[in-house]
Amino acid sequence: MAEAKEENVLDTIVVGGGLAGLTAAYRLRDRDVLLLEKEEIPGGRTVSRKLGPYVYNAGAQVILGDSSPLARLADELDVKRTLIAKSKLPFFTNGKLYSASGQIGLLRKLPMSLADKLRFAWFSLRLKRKYGSLADKPFDPKDPKIIELNSTTVDQFLGSVPRSVRDLWEVFAVVATTTGGDVVTPYHPLMVLLFFLEDEYFVEGGTNQLTIALCRMLGEKAKLGAEVVEVKEMDDRVQVTYDLDGARKTAQARQCIMATQAPITLKVVQDLPDWKRDVLARIEYGSMTTAAFLLSEPSERFLGKGVWRVPVQGQMICALTDPSYTYPREFKEETGQGLLRVYTGDKVSKELMGRSDGEVAETLMDDLVAMLPQIKGKVVESDVAHWYHALPLWKPGHDAIYPNLQAPTGRIHYCGDYTGPGFMNGSVLTAYRVVEEIEKA
Ligand SMILES: Cc1cc2nc3c(=O)[nH]c(=O)nc-3n(C[C@H](O)[C@H](O)[C@H](O)COP(=O)(O)OP(=O)(O)OC[C@H]3O[C@@H](n4cnc5c(N)ncnc54)[C@H](O)[C@@H]3O)c2cc1C
Repeated sequence: MAEAKEENVLDTIVVGGGLAGLTAAYRLRDRDVLLLEKEEIPGGRTVSRKLGPYVYNAGAQVILGDSSPLARLADELDVKRTLIAKSKLPFFTNGKLYSASGQIGLLRKLPMSLADKLRFAWFSLRLKRKYGSLADKPFDPKDPKIIELNSTTVDQFLGSVPRSVRDLWEVFAVVATTTGGDVVTPYHPLMVLLFFLEDEYFVEGGTNQLTIALCRMLGEKAKLGAEVVEVKEMDDRVQVTYDLDGARKTAQARQCIMATQAPITLKVVQDLPDWKRDVLARIEYGSMTTAAFLLSEPSERFLGKGVWRVPVQGQMICALTDPSYTYPREFKEETGQGLLRVYTGDKVSKELMGRSDGEVAETLMDDLVAMLPQIKGKVVESDVAHWYHALPLWKPGHDAIYPNLQAPTGRIHYCGDYTGPGFMNGSVLTAYRVVEEIEKA
């Protein structure tokens, strides 16, 4: 491979053009900054794809909260977001789709005994009162409520609740973390439960529009198709080696931001101190598989009116969404088509990852047909994606590793969702944190 050297010492090199890296580079755009992203399309896990007439999000689906860090960033970038005006709260269990216009209505319909319903309602109300404010606050691992939620598994946290209540929680544990309540802490499942009831926003044109807009703002300062192979700290600078257009190149900067997932950071950064190596190696990854199905009839015919996302219990699929939900009615009528996007996690996804896309689509379609038999014969096209998803908070005691996860090593800074509370808001917050570190330095 030919070698080409760039002698100029830049201010900052950002490795990884997912949401975290792009946000950090965008905030530092007035400096001499260079962002290197391996893929030809920026955005990492914010990938959106087209299926038939619709755009759907193969990765991150929604912006959570109207005044969240990500919502504010979208507004600053002029990226249009639409409130998903959910008029029904659905749940799939015992082979049936239940939906109602509110929480109490849904609870009344669910196949549980009256005593269990009352216990669930009382338990949820207590949780909302005690922990509800966490959903609106920036994540602080030192917050006593977060420490409490992260010190135990979901199962231990629930204590002696009835089986049906535990089963409901299991769905939220898997939807949130791809892993069961016997392993994960209640923090993430609780946040997802709260967010299911809160405002969610769809990015017009797909979540990828956000990261594409950030990348556009960087112009020549972002290089796509640039895979970083080595990051090495030298006396007064950091040297980054990367492959681009068949050539091996180096660039140097006063500091570097690693915005890649933990195993890549571990592999690429040379001479890491043991304390950093240890915490990076402790980050575990759950697997997720998403599949989208283009349908020959509008989605509403299968889900009923007002249903945007359905948590699912007792199937391979753990949640399903209607990505055509925010499209104008006239558009949907004109195309006559619908779209459903499903996902699975944990063991199911791990098993599916060993199969071809065609086999995965068929397996998940069978599962979907078992849930909604009217869909049989109505699938026109499908699309599959697999993901590894870090959730550092998912096991009791893991919050203790945050200080070391976030700490810079010399001139190298670390961001990305695994160094914060997860989700896109988490990525943005971790980007703001490293920018602050650099600005203070
Ligand atoms: C299926 C799914 C659904 C989700 N739904 C939601 C949701 O609805 N709402 C929400 O808030 N969050 C959601 N998330 C989570 C959200 O997608 C992530 O938290 C967020 O996008 C992570 O951004 P990041 O920048 O931290 O990491 P990443 O997106 O993983 O970015 C890392 C980047 O580094 C690049 N890279 C890797 N190696 C190299 C290298 N050697 N050189 C250069 N570049 C490299 C990668 O290509 C990638 O672009 C979802 C995630 C998944 C998988």
